[in-house]
Amino acid sequence: MNFADMKTVAVLGAGTMGNGIAHVFARSGFKVILRDVEQRFLECGMETIGKNLDREIKKGKIAEAEKGTVLGRLRPVTDMGAIAVADFVVEAVPEKIEIKRTVLGEADGILRPEVIIASNTSSISMTALAALTKRPDRFVGMHFMNPVPVMALVEVIRALQTSDATFETTMKLAEKLEKKPVAVNDAPGFVSNRVLMPLINEAAYCVMEGVATAEAVDAVMKLGMNHPMGPLELADFIGLDVCVDIMHVLQEGLGDPKYRACPLLKKYVAAGWLGRKSGRGFYGYS
Ligand code: NAD
Repeated sequence: MNFADMKTVAVLGAGTMGNGIAHVFARSGFKVILRDVEQRFLECGMETIGKNLDREIKKGKIAEAEKGTVLGRLRPVTDMGAIAVADFVVEAVPEKIEIKRTVLGEADGILRPEVIIASNTSSISMTALAALTKRPDRFVGMHFMNPVPVMALVEVIRALQTSDATFETTMKLAEKLEKKPVAVNDAPGFVSNRVLMPLINEAAYCVMEGVATAEAVDAVMKLGMNHPMGPLELADFIGLDVCVDIMHVLQEGLGDPKYRACPLLKKYVAAGWLGRKSGRGFYGYS
């Protein structure tokens, strides 16, 4: 479908990423059908969008009057059938292949054949996900960064089957969202996690081996490399369990032992020290 004719987007999943993705599409003038499995998840997602819009008003990014307009473009639904009118779909359901399989199968059966489905997966093969649908050439990766309304990057990932037209439409769409799309081919961890996760992992090794404290490792990377956040602070933000899972994906997919997850990271996860979300990781959070 022609990019210029796209008016309505469906976002599947109203969690951390889904509500952010719905936010940026609605802010850019699209009607958004936001689908989750239960009303309470939709309420939570809509509340987050409201708070994030308030933050954008405070920063002068949008006018106060715009909040109502943006919220008015969002339609939270639990009924999957409601996505039938969508011109483009972004899937942001949990990172479990069985859930993705079910959701993609349902969406595939409901959507018009020309509609592109994009996945926001951070570690599952786009090529494998495309193969779960009857429209593999109209399947693509759209990997947004957290927090979506703030971060400029979208990795636009070509599955083996993605057509040039699908890829180009998705690049243009990301630009319309005022994001910076970067073209990437399908490979374990894409570029973002392929480069970031070994950095975090190595930082954890430095702490485990007593090279430096977590604070010192982060200070070196912030002061010396101009990183806005230290790698261990960032790991706490992402979730140490998520970091370990992605290291496993890199190790399994690429077969190189250099991707083995740092034992200290695994130990923290075993202790339930998952980072910010559990109140403790490399740092404490009250
Ligand atoms: P999340 O758990 O915060 O949200 C997932 C949402 O999907 C939940 O609200 C859940 O109720 C909903 N859901 C479950 N089954 C559904 C269904 N059948 N239909 C519609 N909604 C359904 O997860 P998240 O962190 O937003 O991650 C979503 C995707 O984005 C994952 O693939 C993840 O790898 C990817 N991602 C996450 C991050 C991150 O920093 N959290 C960054 C980039 C990519």
